[in-house]
Amino acid sequence: MTRTISHFINGQAVSGTSGNFAPVFEPNSGQIQAQVPLADTDEVANAVAAAEAAFPAWSAMNPQRRARVMFRFKALLEENIDELAQLLSSEHGKVVADSRGDIQRGLEVIEFACGIPHLQKGEYTLGAGPGIDVYSMRQPLGVCVGITPFNFPAMIPMWMFGVAIACGNTFVLKPSEKDPSVPFRLAELFLEAGAPAGVLNVIHGDKQAVDALLSHPVVKGVSFVGSSDIAQYVSITGAQNGKRVQAMAGAKNHGIIMPDADMDQVVQDFLGAAFGSAGERCMALPVAVPVGEDTANEFISRIVPKIKALRIGVSTDPNVDYGPVVSAAHKAKVESYIDMCEKEGGKVLVDGRGFSLPGHEDGFFVGPSLFDHVKPGMQSYDEEIFGPVLQIVRADSLDEAAALASNHQYGNGVALFTRSGLAAREFVAKVQVGMVGINVPIPVPVSYHTFGGWKRSAFADTNQHGPEGVRFWTKIKTVTQRWPDGAVSDQSFIIPTME
Ligand code: NAD
Repeated sequence: MTRTISHFINGQAVSGTSGNFAPVFEPNSGQIQAQVPLADTDEVANAVAAAEAAFPAWSAMNPQRRARVMFRFKALLEENIDELAQLLSSEHGKVVADSRGDIQRGLEVIEFACGIPHLQKGEYTLGAGPGIDVYSMRQPLGVCVGITPFNFPAMIPMWMFGVAIACGNTFVLKPSEKDPSVPFRLAELFLEAGAPAGVLNVIHGDKQAVDALLSHPVVKGVSFVGSSDIAQYVSITGAQNGKRVQAMAGAKNHGIIMPDADMDQVVQDFLGAAFGSAGERCMALPVAVPVGEDTANEFISRIVPKIKALRIGVSTDPNVDYGPVVSAAHKAKVESYIDMCEKEGGKVLVDGRGFSLPGHEDGFFVGPSLFDHVKPGMQSYDEEIFGPVLQIVRADSLDEAAALASNHQYGNGVALFTRSGLAAREFVAKVQVGMVGINVPIPVPVSYHTFGGWKRSAFADTNQHGPEGVRFWTKIKTVTQRWPDGAVSDQSFIIPTME
């Protein structure tokens, strides 16, 4: 019988009652391995009610005690990382070592959140006026929500609830219905770490659950990560309903290769960044922009044999480079973009279509593809493919290459490969992209900095984690105070100033 996944509400596993379910696949075999309940409005309301009930005590707890829960949670993640990584790979399809990285990046946000007593401290000015002191404090918003994509089922939930809960909020997580088991386990471990019931709840679902969260009057803050059209919808709908919203979205990141770059390293970097996790990363590098014909020809001659030698296999095999994509529908979508790119005039150098893994013929595997002579205006370039497909767009100068990244609808990440500090410095200043790597192919900022793109890669306000995360999950209150000293000042009808 098919295993049925539960919601996690008020510290307990709760069976779905809507009668609606979605299949959870095992991407290596293509078989259904479980079903996940899709919550209706009433079930969402139960999760929000649990978070609302937990808020007064949790938000009143001193920040050091909240931090201690985070320390214990971090230790439990470390103890359970092998089990979590296996579970993650079995639903997502990324290789186990990469799943460990997914969990580790989330764990690093929990490490950051352990510093919340310091991070959430306010500011104080003694003597801002005669006998007047001014201070500010950062208070939690209340019940907050995270809506997350399939491609990082551990890291992205922890970007959100790690910081939000440390700040004193309580939380309802609506993870991707495609790989829901790790988010559920995270909530179990968080309870085990000492978080009171109701502080972290997990509700599974689709658009109906998302809409119920966006319109629920008790919800104060919403963080979303996913595709751009839905991110835009969430940001508009959430804002219309008076929520604070941040919504990170799709990407098409460019890697610009200058003639002076270390080509051996560049080739290695593109192999990992374009094809790792089957290209299902918002910080993947699916566009290579060699500057000059010689650079392009050298890059192609070096990378083609290495792409042909990539090892594609089941996600649990430690010897493979990447595993299957997440679903049959996604495999079909990626292959349709490969067809499209060819029809649009892209020159196929390596063709990943029709790949089949012996013994796993129904698995969702896609071979690696490489295209040359791709140009702006081609739909397959303008849109996100989110698969193991690398497109080469040739440029004559760094300015032309940088303009490609700056003018693209997405602005998540960009990388420049060069030995010139001067060229890099000018590029960093001008490029219209939110996260920049210099000789770093996947410039995902560390947890104590902040993550977020520009243009159609992010909607609404402020980034994930780091100091920006603390600002997003708190509201500032500023107090101006004077204590009676016996003197009575004149009544004044003029706005007080510092003159
Ligand atoms: P998705 O947009 O399909 O799903 C994201 C979330 O939205 C899921 O929880 C899903 O259940 C929910 N959802 C789906 N349809 C909805 C609808 N009609 N209304 C409301 N909610 C809905 O994204 P995905 O396929 O799970 O993830 C891949 C996408 O996420 C890619 O575009 C990728 O670039 C992006 N992504 C962006 C970042 C970033 O930080 N910029 C990080 C990771 C992934």
